[in-house]
Amino acid sequence: MTSVSVSRSRREFLQALTGAAVSPSTMSFSARAASGPRLRLDRRIIVVTFGGGCRDEETFLPEGQENIPHLLHDLVPQATFFTRVENRGILGHYVATASLATGVYESINNFASLPPEYPTVFEYFRRDLKRPAVDTWVVAPSNGFNRIGGSDSRSFGPEYAAGVVLPKRFLKAALASSSVADYEHLLRDNYETPLFTPEIEGPANKDLSLHEFASILSLSVTDFVHHALTLSSPDELSIYVARQLMRRYAPRLLWITLHDMDIAHAGCYSLYLEAIQRTDRLCGEIWRTVQSEPEYAGKTTLLIMPDFGRDSDFSPGGNGFQHHRTGDALSRTTWLIALGPGIRENVVVERPVEPLDLAPTLGTMLGFDPKMAQGKPLTELM
Ligand SMILES: [Zn+2]
Repeated sequence: MTSVSVSRSRREFLQALTGAAVSPSTMSFSARAASGPRLRLDRRIIVVTFGGGCRDEETFLPEGQENIPHLLHDLVPQATFFTRVENRGILGHYVATASLATGVYESINNFASLPPEYPTVFEYFRRDLKRPAVDTWVVAPSNGFNRIGGSDSRSFGPEYAAGVVLPKRFLKAALASSSVADYEHLLRDNYETPLFTPEIEGPANKDLSLHEFASILSLSVTDFVHHALTLSSPDELSIYVARQLMRRYAPRLLWITLHDMDIAHAGCYSLYLEAIQRTDRLCGEIWRTVQSEPEYAGKTTLLIMPDFGRDSDFSPGGNGFQHHRTGDALSRTTWLIALGPGIRENVVVERPVEPLDLAPTLGTMLGFDPKMAQGKPLTELM
């Protein structure tokens, strides 16, 4: 399996299912604003990473379509779909997500509590456009993502970072002294290294108490816990928190990292499948929330992409869906869906693009200049 064949099969599947048109491969390059940063006040952006990676067998192949009805029937027909996003970076969730946020293949230790090396889109956004901290947030799955909101780069850094919300961390704190049982399913920190739970350190959340966290969400701690315990998974908790942030602050740049489906590492196919179905449903819910919130309706671009895929891994000890350790074409060739005002509907783009193109694309859409990002804006979305 090559990157080209992965991409072609996605295109053929979507053409058969939705009648998607194929975008011409040569498009004029008009992207980066010549006049420097300019805030597009009328625009909001939500980036969703699609959950720690999945295979096409469970998604964009005929046998997978029953798992992603919301993507296929609600979102893709309104979207431009990139079938060939080639990831040349390290296939670890934190480092790959940091690379998406900086537009540079980061080489930080995936399992350490470290900030990205290069400035993030959150810092460019806030510094270039003089935006307050509450205008950009990251909702992240694991303690290991605590530092993703801002780099250590000179002239950027914590002063311009996004607020990072780790819903599980706060739920755990809230439940620490309670007698509530049966909530471990909401707290599992990560699926890749069950024995490793990074300690929280660094500026992003250093001083945020449980009560401050609840106040950010406009909730009491009791209400937060009460609601959280009705939810089925960490990702569902993240979406609940993201919705509260949207209502309270209407951030222009909101980043949600979903992660449930990475439970695949545990080797249980049914849990992995269930997580894909849930992620699909949550993506549909995010889009419906956008339509129902006055600050977002009609002016929001939603971008959904996995951080990377899963490999075929049919080697001894592998079972074909569990990991992302071989670095084969399947694990490196992902996709991107973009929809919202001004974005062409039901269009497939087959040319190869990279995860690094996301940061410059966000820059062009919102009017900031991610100077150190190595990707190029996706002109098909301009
Ligand atoms: Zn993983």
